[in-house]
Amino acid sequence: MFAVGCHLSTEGGYRSMGERILSVGGRTFQFFAKNPKGRTPVKPPEPEDIEGLCRIIRENGLLPPLAHAPYTYNPASEKESVREYSRDSMRKELEFLEVFDGAMYNFHPGCHVGQGVEQGIAYISDMLNAILWPEMKTTVLLETMAGKGTEIGRNFEELRAVIDAVRPEVRDCVGVCLDTCHVHDGGYPIGEDTDGVLDEFDRVIGLHRLRAVHLNDSMNPMGAAKDRHAKIGEGYIGMVGIARIVNHPALRKLPFYLETPNDLLGYGKEIALLKNVRNETEKGVSDNG
Ligand code: FE
Ligand code: FE
Ligand code: ZN
Repeated sequence: MFAVGCHLSTEGGYRSMGERILSVGGRTFQFFAKNPKGRTPVKPPEPEDIEGLCRIIRENGLLPPLAHAPYTYNPASEKESVREYSRDSMRKELEFLEVFDGAMYNFHPGCHVGQGVEQGIAYISDMLNAILWPEMKTTVLLETMAGKGTEIGRNFEELRAVIDAVRPEVRDCVGVCLDTCHVHDGGYPIGEDTDGVLDEFDRVIGLHRLRAVHLNDSMNPMGAAKDRHAKIGEGYIGMVGIARIVNHPALRKLPFYLETPNDLLGYGKEIALLKNVRNETEKGVSDNG
């Protein structure tokens, strides 16, 4: 079944996110557990509110949600205080997410701010080694980045290097979230040569690490290193590329999360559009190559 969903605001509460995703025909969703730009936590959720969401998930066969880390974290910062803040906050978020029994947690690996990629990668893996524990039920995802400024994760090799430096006991708690706008902006023709890009992903990182897709079109040409999301079919990836992505055999079983510039109504339209271009029969899969 097509696991498509979108980013939702926690405003209105957790149970409400479950109701909203059902109302637009989605099967999963992403949210910020904390204020994405500030340092203050979003009002801590009431246990009944969380239980309400868990019930909606169970009763409707939704996937456990994906939480996105705030943009204020930078595990690769040159400032110790920023690294500690990122580490301690992320650990708290991960402890909270255990309530969902199989959630995912996505974060931007970080910016090395001039210290160099190698130092940045060492800091990111140090943090993961400090906060992950072998029995955790949540999978922590490194997001592929567009390569703005000194972002780490601009190519598959950098993500592989982070994962390689994670200790083996917790390495399987780590996966990758492929953001289609970001990899396109990073120079990978994900919509045009989906096969080629995913072969390269498999060779460098391994497709078994790929656990989620952020499905966004891009306002900029391939390789622009910009990171500006466009509505589905309205950017440089285009509807043909998007259809290739949601139907690709290596991606079909993964959850897709829209992070396009939309309100709930707009997301509902995009979800309907995507269901339309998705081939749901086995014959469709082979026809699609
Ligand atoms: Fe992101
Ligand atoms: Fe993203
Ligand atoms: Zn982005």
